[in-house]
Amino acid sequence: MNSSIALKVENVNKIYRQGNENINALKNISFEVKTGEIFGLLGPNGAGKSTFINILAGTVNKTNGYVNVWGFNLDKNPRQVRASIGIVPQEINVDPFFSPRKLLNLQAGLYGIKKKDRITEEILELTNLSDKANAYSRSLSGGMKRRLLVAKAMVHQPPILILDEPTAGVDVDLRRKLLESVRTLNKQGVTIIYTTHYLKEASDICNRIAIVNKGELVALNSTQELLKNNSDLEEVFIDLTKN
Ligand code: ADP
Repeated sequence: MNSSIALKVENVNKIYRQGNENINALKNISFEVKTGEIFGLLGPNGAGKSTFINILAGTVNKTNGYVNVWGFNLDKNPRQVRASIGIVPQEINVDPFFSPRKLLNLQAGLYGIKKKDRITEEILELTNLSDKANAYSRSLSGGMKRRLLVAKAMVHQPPILILDEPTAGVDVDLRRKLLESVRTLNKQGVTIIYTTHYLKEASDICNRIAIVNKGELVALNSTQELLKNNSDLEEVFIDLTKN
């Protein structure tokens, strides 16, 4: 695969079976994420964003289609795919009695990273948590906890970082700081996939945006091109969120 492509998705479908009902959560989705970009996956609740992330994470099996992450075919090399991505979850899931430094070292241990190969201090620095490295995680603010989730996802130095609606319930100032951390990581060369249901947020940070609705890819363009037709887009988006 061309190394300028970080992620390639071709004709991916996901059908959940619920009782006698089939739920088409992803319908023939195809797109590419370029290496080094901040790519937005935008869509209202129920669009299929989590399903897509879970497929990459290996916790949901796609029904069919082709997925390649960092040159690895998901069907043939699922472990390499997982090693190539870091996922920042929606929910804050850090042990309140450990410090950020301890948590990052534990996470590195889970990935089998030897002490001498760990980059704990660099990650703390990048996510602006060095000052709080030894504080109980429970004493961190909401924004700091979210940055700690970003830090945790970076421990194995994945080239691709996926953020799953990372600003839910975060106030304006903390949101700004979180987005700054994401930009800093991107400047260090990390490819970012950013899911959100806020058009404004996606357009603030993303180079390109894909819009999904009811499992279908309904738009994909550079942020600038998408916003050129701003009023139309807002209408489309309001329509989407109403459904
Ligand atoms: P989003 O993350 O964009 O809100 P999801 O991927 O969570 O969307 O959901 C997409 C669709 O798939 C929804 O209709 C949802 O109800 C359905 N869905 C998600 N997970 C399951 C599941 N485990 N079993 C059945 N249906 C599911």
